[in-house]
Amino acid sequence: MLQKKSVCPYCGIGCGLLVDYEPGNIVKVSPMVDHPTNQGLICQLPVNLPKLFTHKDRLRNPMMRQNDQLMPTSWDKAISHVALELNRIIKDYGPDAVAFFSGAACFSEEYYLANKLMKAVIGSNNVESTSRLCMSSTAMGFISTLGADAPPTCYADMEEADLFFIAGNNMAVSLPVIFQRICAVREKNSHAKVIVIDPRITETASIADIHLQIRPATDVALNNSLAYVLINNGFVDEEFVKKYTTGFEDLKELVQEYPPSRAARITGCSEKQIFETAITIGQSKAMLTFWLQGYNQSTQAVFKNNTLHNLLLLTGNYCRVGAGPLSITGEANTMACRWIGALSHLLPGMRLVSNSRHREEVAELWGTTAEKINPIPGRSIIDIIKGLHSGDIRALWVLASNPAASLPHTEWVKEALSKAELLIVQDIFHPTETSMFANVVLAGAQWCEKTGTFISSERRIQLAEKVIAPPGNAKSDCDIICMIAKEMGFADKFLFTSPEEVFEELKKTTSGRICDANGVSYDRLRNSTGPQLPCPTDDHPGTKRLFENMQFPRPDGRAALLARHFQPPSEQTDGEYPFALITGRMAPQFNTGTRTGRITHLDTTVSTNFVEIHPNDAKDFETADGDVVDMISRRGRVRGIVSIQERVLPGTVYMNLHFGEVMSGEKNTLANLVCNPVYDNYSKQPEYKFCAVKIVKI
Ligand code: SF4
Repeated sequence: MLQKKSVCPYCGIGCGLLVDYEPGNIVKVSPMVDHPTNQGLICQLPVNLPKLFTHKDRLRNPMMRQNDQLMPTSWDKAISHVALELNRIIKDYGPDAVAFFSGAACFSEEYYLANKLMKAVIGSNNVESTSRLCMSSTAMGFISTLGADAPPTCYADMEEADLFFIAGNNMAVSLPVIFQRICAVREKNSHAKVIVIDPRITETASIADIHLQIRPATDVALNNSLAYVLINNGFVDEEFVKKYTTGFEDLKELVQEYPPSRAARITGCSEKQIFETAITIGQSKAMLTFWLQGYNQSTQAVFKNNTLHNLLLLTGNYCRVGAGPLSITGEANTMACRWIGALSHLLPGMRLVSNSRHREEVAELWGTTAEKINPIPGRSIIDIIKGLHSGDIRALWVLASNPAASLPHTEWVKEALSKAELLIVQDIFHPTETSMFANVVLAGAQWCEKTGTFISSERRIQLAEKVIAPPGNAKSDCDIICMIAKEMGFADKFLFTSPEEVFEELKKTTSGRICDANGVSYDRLRNSTGPQLPCPTDDHPGTKRLFENMQFPRPDGRAALLARHFQPPSEQTDGEYPFALITGRMAPQFNTGTRTGRITHLDTTVSTNFVEIHPNDAKDFETADGDVVDMISRRGRVRGIVSIQERVLPGTVYMNLHFGEVMSGEKNTLANLVCNPVYDNYSKQPEYKFCAVKIVKI
């Protein structure tokens, strides 16, 4: 048996894996015992990966639509058609009629190539990734508070912390290895405490010393009230605040409007709980904060991030050992989406399309002129969908993503996809909810069938190498992007013969930036578990923590305490739609289940979606466990089986986000059918975590 080290392609923790293989066959995936991230730990997702390599739906050839049916075709025909159609649409409607949307588990090299093709050559900034759905609010939170999208902490801080503040993040399910490390700290250190903020009594809440079962979407009011108690009870680290922050007086004034009595009315938590939580924070010596989609998928997402940073800054829990914001991303390479520029307002190396100096720097590296790069940010993915509806967007190229199931208000999304003149879907499986609408399906390669790098949530860059060849005529995604670019007439900028060559060009865009990767080479990554960025030179060990000198990349060098008022979510419950729906994940499934939904023993764990409802509400609505109900919002309806649970609040219902039609075999079991496609104005991240629904018994 042969063995190669690799990196997990699922969540953004970046666990080190060992892949056992024989020629043409992946046999087993196990954890690396000596990896600094997972230290021998692993969850069930990568263990089941070998089953995906031989699945019947695995794409082996490109496909093109003929007589309304997708039929296998040759690469020559598929690439020629794609290039001709893209060039036609650009000529007829301009470059902004073209858009690109990828998953957040692609390799950095793939984001780099797609960005270069779209932003430098085609001239369209409509480049988006699922990072928009996952972490764009975290990114904007860091930018507004710190001055840069630069998560400062590292996983080793977990073993040094004495307080874990976990908000809107069921990490026992979504980030299991991090959860296991926190549990281990708790076992060793009886003084270490856990605060969980979540509207649901989750698996994570089961280890909490304090669980605030907050009403959905009221976190800003809670955080302001916690700041109120800290400020008014002498828990502010005055020296830290004076030397390293700005905005204290404004914040102090604003939080006077959030005494625990008012916050209790907004959040549903008791005054005593709010006070005790603040005191626990104030008495902590080293607090780490964790948050995820309960924060980020909301119309107040960036403000939730800012007000959480406020608590850390007020108490001096910033950028020192064991303390700070430990932001973990939901997908494997979301950090690279943000740093390599796979969002419509970004350029590689943490640069902005709207910044003329940034455009000049990148244009020089790309061998083009700054004028070629559009200074106006492109559309967010929700605005791309709107553009398909209006006809402003004519072509959409989707790489390793499934927007027909992953975006909110799914029927509206599908209708938009059906209007595209050209929908290119580059993926490893067919059918997906999205590939069913495609004009062209391009057979890409999956993890272990291609080579590239991931950047984890603690900024660790790692190499995942090709272990076996892709099946049939499937090709690596870098190769496919380069083939299309060459066929469109841009061969001179895409003369790469390997992902390593792409990486060598990519890393030049990071010179002198916080994401500096110039000290990284494929050889270095082959022989190590990868340094944490920035790593500017060959002999640099990498950077464990950022800003330890407390100099932040804002004009005044200080972190910003930001005064942010609470606002309710965009949609309210009322007499007609009396329940607030929140959604979440199950441990065996990942996102829309394109991969995990195809693993037989996982998809039989739970056969269909369910609706968690509080016993009081079940009584009022005369429903019983096992009843089939439709949950109806102002946009659509979704079917599920009633599960009566004390774990949800009265007036709130919960549903898992998986169960698209490919996974469940039913057209009406996907929670996103009813979710609201409104977004946070600062991050453009949609509000998946709150919509008003009613329940009708079938
Ligand atoms: S915790 Fe995340 S990175 Fe680690 S093995 Fe599980 S999915 Fe992969």
